[in-house]
Amino acid sequence: MATTISPAQLDARVAEFLDKPRKMLIDGKWVDAISGKTFPTYNPATGEVLAQVAEGDAADIDAAVKAARRAFDSGPWSRLTASDRGKLVWKLADLLERHIEEFATLETLDNGKPLTVARAADVPLAVDMFRYMAGWATKLEGTTIPISVPYTPGANYHAYTLREPVGVVGQIIPWNFPLLMAAWKLAPALACGCTVVLKPAEQTPLTALLLGELIQEAGFPDGVVNIVPGYGETAGAALAAHDLVDKIAFTGSTEVGKLIVHAATGNLKKVSLELGGKSPNVVFQDSDVEAAIGGAASAIFFNHGQCCCAGSRLYVERPVFDRVVEGVAAKAKKIKVGSGMEPGTHMGPLVSEEQLQRVCNYLEIGMKEGATAMAGGKKLGEKGYFVEPTVLVNTKEDMRVVQEEIFGPVVAAIPFDDPEELVPRANNSMYGLAAGIWTKDISKAHRLASALRAGTVWINCYNIFDAALPFGGYKQSGWGREMGKDVLNLYTQTKAVCTRL
Ligand code: ADP
Repeated sequence: MATTISPAQLDARVAEFLDKPRKMLIDGKWVDAISGKTFPTYNPATGEVLAQVAEGDAADIDAAVKAARRAFDSGPWSRLTASDRGKLVWKLADLLERHIEEFATLETLDNGKPLTVARAADVPLAVDMFRYMAGWATKLEGTTIPISVPYTPGANYHAYTLREPVGVVGQIIPWNFPLLMAAWKLAPALACGCTVVLKPAEQTPLTALLLGELIQEAGFPDGVVNIVPGYGETAGAALAAHDLVDKIAFTGSTEVGKLIVHAATGNLKKVSLELGGKSPNVVFQDSDVEAAIGGAASAIFFNHGQCCCAGSRLYVERPVFDRVVEGVAAKAKKIKVGSGMEPGTHMGPLVSEEQLQRVCNYLEIGMKEGATAMAGGKKLGEKGYFVEPTVLVNTKEDMRVVQEEIFGPVVAAIPFDDPEELVPRANNSMYGLAAGIWTKDISKAHRLASALRAGTVWINCYNIFDAALPFGGYKQSGWGREMGKDVLNLYTQTKAVCTRL
């Protein structure tokens, strides 16, 4: 079912998509913002405006939530069989797979990542997520429960549980994997029978909107998926606070995650959060050191370090510290940084001017704190939002560059001597999203995996994602788990039914 689109056809389709201001999807129709406003989305490789997009705010969110409410409470969606619901989700995966080139191209233009990465990772992972979740639609089972009820002696009961969709779901997603984050959110919500209002990040709204076209083509009933682009402080905040929303699912910064929790208190909607990280990646001297060097480099430089789970604190056992750090620095220097559309590019620009400023600011802070760059350390070029892949040494745990999430291609390398003392140091973070371990000693690896306070631990690998593998954070990295069967708990609720026989 792979696409057979020619390069000329692809260019024409992408040009057509970018040409007109993009509308929002509410109740099965493509509409302008009620205010009539649009906002620009930029090509981060050039800093130029890529497209104009309808700017949703509280009024549009209200219309979208009401459409989702109607679709959930009284639309045909709730009467579909589980099998038919699953088939729609699977059909969406098929359509997405057929349009892989358009999605990959648009993702690269809007986000900056290399086209090869969007094509090999972002879009196929999104396809796989829809397929994996499609299968769950028919497997959301309750249980029968033998109950005893001591205060009604002699009575018999038939008790069972139902797993029901949680209702209308607001989903707010970030810009680092725009399509994939939409898939992580939409696929389980739809498989579980929820209806959705999705707000993409203002920096990267385009692939979610293109996905909206496929959602319509697949035949989802009107109002089941509504997509409202707009800014966080307006559209996002209105969605998080809306009284008719039953649940809000958010991926983004820890700071905004806390605002979401506050906004959700009005109607005590359910909240799930996938937030920031400052993940330790630990290399022991008994590891396959060459593999660890490659793994440590990709742990931080994949997606330009714009991953919540990036391996940004590199702990290396002292006897191999110099070798590992020199190896990672050598890899950093070899990374070809450029426009994601250019063949051969390994690393594209950061997503926005703001993000570039943030990363450069942290580089300055790091140098002032006494860190030194073994590779990189500064902005690259005059046009676009490029920064050098950077390896910092002479870092200490209390430095801001070691404690705070930079969300860019900057790793802080720190030696350790005693594996025992490593655990508290690796856990010395407000975050707990992910961790990496490199060793050939499997007992040590599993002991450490158990001691690390992180939602994901990768052993002799890093950044391995699968639709079946739950992902989420300990501590201030979040609430709840996405993907795998764990995520079904976020989009269903249990009803206990008890009958006296
Ligand atoms: P980043 O700092 O990496 O841009 P954010 O956490 O600010 O990440 O953004 C992630 C998502 O949260 C985006 O869709 C953004 O629009 C949204 N957002 C930002 N601020 C708010 C807010 N106050 N309420 C709801 N959503 C918000």
